[in-house]
Amino acid sequence: MKYDDLVAGSGISGMAMALLLAKAGRKVLLIEKQSAIGGCMRRFKRKGIPFDTGFHFTGGFGGLLSDMLRVLGMEKDICPEFLNDPKTNRIFLENSNSMYEFPSGSDAFGKTLKKYFPDECEAINKYLHIEDDIERRTPFMDLNKLSSEDLFVLMQQIDEDSISLQEYLDSITSNTKLQAVIGNAALCYGSPPAVIPLSMHCRAAVGMHKSLARVTGGGDAFINSFKRRAMELNIDIMTNTEISDIVQRDGKTISAVRLSNGKTCSFENCILAIHPREIISILPEDAVPESTRQTIEKYEESFSFFSLFATIQTACQVPCALTSYLANDNLNEIISPGSDACAMAILTGVEVVGNDKVNVLCAFENEFPGKARRWQNVVCRENDDSYQQYKKCHAEAMIKKIEKVYPEYAGKINILSTSSTLTFEEYLPPFGSAYGIMHKVGEQSLFGRLPVRNFYAIGQSALIPGILGAMLSSFIVGRYLLGRNFISL
Ligand SMILES: Cc1cc2nc3c(=O)[nH]c(=O)nc-3n(C[C@H](O)[C@H](O)[C@H](O)COP(=O)(O)OP(=O)(O)OC[C@H]3O[C@@H](n4cnc5c(N)ncnc54)[C@H](O)[C@@H]3O)c2cc1C
Repeated sequence: MKYDDLVAGSGISGMAMALLLAKAGRKVLLIEKQSAIGGCMRRFKRKGIPFDTGFHFTGGFGGLLSDMLRVLGMEKDICPEFLNDPKTNRIFLENSNSMYEFPSGSDAFGKTLKKYFPDECEAINKYLHIEDDIERRTPFMDLNKLSSEDLFVLMQQIDEDSISLQEYLDSITSNTKLQAVIGNAALCYGSPPAVIPLSMHCRAAVGMHKSLARVTGGGDAFINSFKRRAMELNIDIMTNTEISDIVQRDGKTISAVRLSNGKTCSFENCILAIHPREIISILPEDAVPESTRQTIEKYEESFSFFSLFATIQTACQVPCALTSYLANDNLNEIISPGSDACAMAILTGVEVVGNDKVNVLCAFENEFPGKARRWQNVVCRENDDSYQQYKKCHAEAMIKKIEKVYPEYAGKINILSTSSTLTFEEYLPPFGSAYGIMHKVGEQSLFGRLPVRNFYAIGQSALIPGILGAMLSSFIVGRYLLGRNFISL
């Protein structure tokens, strides 16, 4: 098989990469290790009702996300449902029993913060300014600049790459509740404020503060749209397939690999939209400098989740809403392995099933894999009483918390499925971490050109977690491979 480009991994970053290259007239093969494409975007069904796993809401509509979808020819298939009403975007701090409700839009976010924290107006102004300023000083977050500026300018470091969010927050306020409300985006990228670079926090948070939306049809809307475009652009797709070994290498260039289905594939470029540890296991040992290997070994995984998927038995339609439930105002404690304090994202919405509309609820509580490890080697966990009991107790505790912030749903939540961190390990191999690696100040991620010259790394661990960051990593590598004005090709 002869291709211009081989893309490995069919999550949102691999799909975006394949489309960008094919749109520019290149012949692309997309391979996926699992039996279906989509990665975190995949949904599953219980009793015919679809549930999202790794995609629930995003910022970026009317901005960067809409721009990228337009370039990929997917925009008309992806319909946002905005969370405009303040009651639909809330943060709850359990230890102080305080609820914060936020309307959509950066200005409204700022005004509401000042209403809740009237003595902190100066700190709030400073934070809003830096968030805005970092977005403005990040040329790769603007597709016009991405297609016109020099690569050197696009990827230039800024001062805020080298200070943590926590350092910055401590410099503007000592109010820990305000710090928690600002830092709440940590639940969407999985790194504690003490280690995440301020720049990365702001890049991830700014879109969500401008506008937060769910998507009709969830992750499937993206996958179906991709499939339509892949047909139009003649992208070949192989599932249950990964790279097994290298068959043609000339120094620092690899031009052919054998795939796990026995076929040999030659190419000009290979783009790896997978976890950095999997990337490194594909590259020949002697091609990767020891320092790079050591950096990758040091990567810490972001947290995983315990999650429940349910219906809400009410006569009226529930709103499309998000509540972040934090045990306390210390996100560094909440996002640290071994801590008993945790956070939960509670999402409600409506799914269309045949001619019916069904109220659904998904809740995700952050958890590091340790707690479920003892069942790792149990062959049939579904029949293991102690594992089932663990899941039942965990789900019941979550329901109590959910009913605290949604008293109107008390007694009406019908759980259809629960999943532990072990489920996530199987669903999101190799580690089940929700957001890939934890991004840390001073730690270089594996992104862009790799030590093998025609190999590139993209995906959530490469740039910024979340679908926006994962797609953006593909656009940056697209700019590198296709040159200026690549978006109009
Ligand atoms: C529970 C959960 C909730 C989330 N909620 C949100 C949210 O609401 N909003 C948001 O923006 N983000 C959310 N995220 C994060 C978001 O889903 C991810 O950041 C993003 O989808 C990652 O995309 P990706 O392409 O980098 O990787 P993935 O989606 O992980 O895709 C990688 C793909 O590569 C495949 N693969 C692995 N190894 C190989 C190999 N060797 N060869 C071939 N294929 C391979 C995998 O099977 C997988 O299909 C959530 C994540 C989780 C887990």
